[in-house]
Amino acid sequence: MQKEGQDIQVFWFRRDLRLTDNVGLYNALQDKRYPVFPLFIFDTDILSSLPSTYDKRVDYIHQILTSLNQELHQLGSSLMVEIGKPTEVFEKLTTQFTIKAVHTNSDYEPYAIQRDKEVRSLLHTKGITLHTYTDQVIFAPGEVIKVDGSPYTIFTPFSKIWLRKYEQLPHQEYTTDAYKKNWLSTLAQEIPSLAKCGFKKTSIQYTPPSIPYSIIDNYTDTRNFPAINGTSTLSIHLRFGTISIRQLARIAFTRNHTYVSELIWRDFFMQILYFFPHVQTNAFKPKYDAIEWRNDTAEFSRWCNGTTGYPLVDAGMRQLNETGWMHNRVRMVVASFLCKHLLVDWRWGEAYFATKLMDYDLSANNGNWQWAAGCGCDAAPYFRVFNPTEQAKKFDSNSEYIRQWIPEVDTNKYATPIVERTFARNRAIETYKKAISG
Ligand SMILES: Cc1cc2nc3c(=O)[nH]c(=O)nc-3n(C[C@H](O)[C@H](O)[C@H](O)COP(=O)(O)OP(=O)(O)OC[C@H]3O[C@@H](n4cnc5c(N)ncnc54)[C@H](O)[C@@H]3O)c2cc1C
Repeated sequence: MQKEGQDIQVFWFRRDLRLTDNVGLYNALQDKRYPVFPLFIFDTDILSSLPSTYDKRVDYIHQILTSLNQELHQLGSSLMVEIGKPTEVFEKLTTQFTIKAVHTNSDYEPYAIQRDKEVRSLLHTKGITLHTYTDQVIFAPGEVIKVDGSPYTIFTPFSKIWLRKYEQLPHQEYTTDAYKKNWLSTLAQEIPSLAKCGFKKTSIQYTPPSIPYSIIDNYTDTRNFPAINGTSTLSIHLRFGTISIRQLARIAFTRNHTYVSELIWRDFFMQILYFFPHVQTNAFKPKYDAIEWRNDTAEFSRWCNGTTGYPLVDAGMRQLNETGWMHNRVRMVVASFLCKHLLVDWRWGEAYFATKLMDYDLSANNGNWQWAAGCGCDAAPYFRVFNPTEQAKKFDSNSEYIRQWIPEVDTNKYATPIVERTFARNRAIETYKKAISG
């Protein structure tokens, strides 16, 4: 049992909630002089910004931590879970222990960068180094760049260089037999209850990830059809780090390059947000900030509730509201519909997704919303207006997905279309043209 005052190292878990193939944890365990003390902080700055005390994601994290703690118990260790502002938590811990070093995996979102800067400088005043590692992505922002050192803003050349670099990677697995030895700190902690974090139990159930090999093998043919189980649904695990991106990429690389390409999009948007943080609040292309959005609140509500009268849009929104996940093809259709057919600011849709998606990730959500709205770095051209009816015919030809989410679709109880399609399409093109030629 570790005692207060003892020399220790801290491993700070964030978006990497697993013991295997975890770069930061692996590196912390390499220094055998001091036991590693596993820590997770429920950051009250983040918790207090959530709109409801029924947040499936907080519940989900809590369940993952419980499972992680059980794994650590089997290794004679346990997880310390603190609730508070990270700087205050570290301030407290430094009075309890002699911390020799803190290790953590890098996080590239603007909020996280600022938080880590503050923690780093606090620790620095106490003579403690914060060590950071690349774990959440294959290549950290700045690793795949143009010859002149500037970041890529177009996906295709980014992905070419990404692949070239990937083939040269040594592919080390960051797992050590250290886990089997008893040198993780054993503090016999209990995890604070969800109620103590200020949240209530929801219907969400955490299940550890498993790699869907056959889905990955057939991905190229199946990924666009929302009625079938044709995508990996690993986004939630990538979000919380319950699966290693390196492990997944290694498997995908030998089986399906279309799937690898989706993982590259993830790295791509992560570096866009990092190098162009203005995208958090503004269009990547400034001209698009001049679009005169209609922002009709009643229409926005109908979009949110899945009652626009456009079946594929409504099915998607109902799937999102009920499960916290939506198929990618349908995400593209609903996003395009909101921005173009209804001329509602993409930021409204982005914010709505942020409250609902279990896999919510600022860079992927923002990048994809800007793509759909046409204002992003490598976006759909403004005159490309997805036709939700044609999309339904093509990707849900038997209306299987639509009927699953809208049982009343073929009855007179179903909503009439919120707007006439050709009129809406022309209105969108005119409005966009006016903004970007102005
Ligand atoms: C408007 C909109 C908003 C989105 N918001 C998010 C979000 O908040 N979080 C999120 O993880 N994805 C987001 N996506 C991307 C994509 O829809 C989801 O990653 C995907 O549907 C998750 O399901 P899956 O794990 O079965 O994906 P698969 O098709 O199995 O893909 C494998 C993995 O690749 C990554 N990926 C796939 N497509 C994309 C993409 N277009 N951009 C970035 N990464 C991708 C994801 O990590 C995904 O888990 C959004 C897409 C759109 C159009």
